[in-house]
Amino acid sequence: MPVAAKVKKCLEGSSWIRKMFEEGDKLRKERGAENIFDFTLGNPTMEPPLELQQELQRIAATPIPGMHRYMNNAGYEETRAAVAEVIAENCALPVSAAHIVMTCGAGAALNVVMKTLLNPGDEVIILSPYFVEYNFYIDNHGGVPVVVPTLPDFQPDVNAIAAAITARTKAIIINSPNNPTGVIYPFAALKELGDLLAQKEQEYGTTIVAISDEPYARISFGEEVPCIFTAITNAVIVTSHSKDLALPGDRIGYLAASPALKNVTLFMQGAVFANRVLGFVNAPALMQRLITRLQRVSVDVAQYRVKRDLLYNKLVELGFEVVKPGGGFYLFPRSPLPDEIEFVRRAQQHGILLVPGSGFGAPGFFRIAYCFEDEMIIRSLPAWEKLAAELGM
Ligand code: PLP
Repeated sequence: MPVAAKVKKCLEGSSWIRKMFEEGDKLRKERGAENIFDFTLGNPTMEPPLELQQELQRIAATPIPGMHRYMNNAGYEETRAAVAEVIAENCALPVSAAHIVMTCGAGAALNVVMKTLLNPGDEVIILSPYFVEYNFYIDNHGGVPVVVPTLPDFQPDVNAIAAAITARTKAIIINSPNNPTGVIYPFAALKELGDLLAQKEQEYGTTIVAISDEPYARISFGEEVPCIFTAITNAVIVTSHSKDLALPGDRIGYLAASPALKNVTLFMQGAVFANRVLGFVNAPALMQRLITRLQRVSVDVAQYRVKRDLLYNKLVELGFEVVKPGGGFYLFPRSPLPDEIEFVRRAQQHGILLVPGSGFGAPGFFRIAYCFEDEMIIRSLPAWEKLAAELGM
């Protein structure tokens, strides 16, 4: 079979999230969809905001000649300027269209940044629990992931990060609000990390780029999500509208480099080249037009807060140990059984589908994605009660 050994290996160890999703499909057929409570995939059931539908209609009604053609690989100037304007405002820094590359989502932006930065063998620090694709994205470009566990409250452990940095460290990925924990990193934590990176850069004579993966930045339940550029000098934002405009299927996102990033002009040239030669060429033209005027629009975050509270309050009442998420749409409780895979199997018997923490580099926990209808969440609560009772909680 003409499939690379590495890919074959990845397929064999196929993602827990996918595995649980497929299991869910089987159970739905066996038991009826109304008896299955699927919390596995972070694929929001919420529709995009009304403004997006209106903007889509406006664009369709007023076609511009050439709107389906190739463009600059970085994306439309007008779109990049609109994106930059909001970042510049948030960060109080002179971010301009020149610092932006429009991408096919945050996933593509991460790959573009890795390709731009990494030499073979370069190390990239990731903080566990982590979004599992980071491992693959780093490997795609010859990098080596170095996993550093977070503190018990899932905040970055700066001492552990300090111990993990070497002369080969090229970057660190941070993700706040976090998938899978929902935790937001406060400014003080980011500043401490920024100070550490600056100190290590000096010690090794290197540049270490903080890659802030922040597709959930606008899904905060009140806590400030600080601008990474104000805390860390060598920083790049990667993000998308998959979650804040509920557009994951439309593949639109961007990367933004801090104006203070070392050799920022060369980095941007590298990123535009990487976007082209990775085969993305440019982010979808129609999507770029669509989001240009929607930079200050988001899904109704209050609805996610209701969902968080429904589940968080029930879990706490039942005796689960769980860090209260400040944003995003995930919960990451500790498994009441030492083997979380066994716990996930027991939950499955009650129709509750979850993802084991091992899938995020954090055994002993499990992930709940709660980006689903309130009705399904409420309907699941008696099943959670039965599960807890069965486990003697
Ligand atoms: N980063 C994190 C932490 C995510 O949770 C996701 C998607 O779930 C992504 C990146 C990729 O998002 P997209 O490529 O759809 O923008």
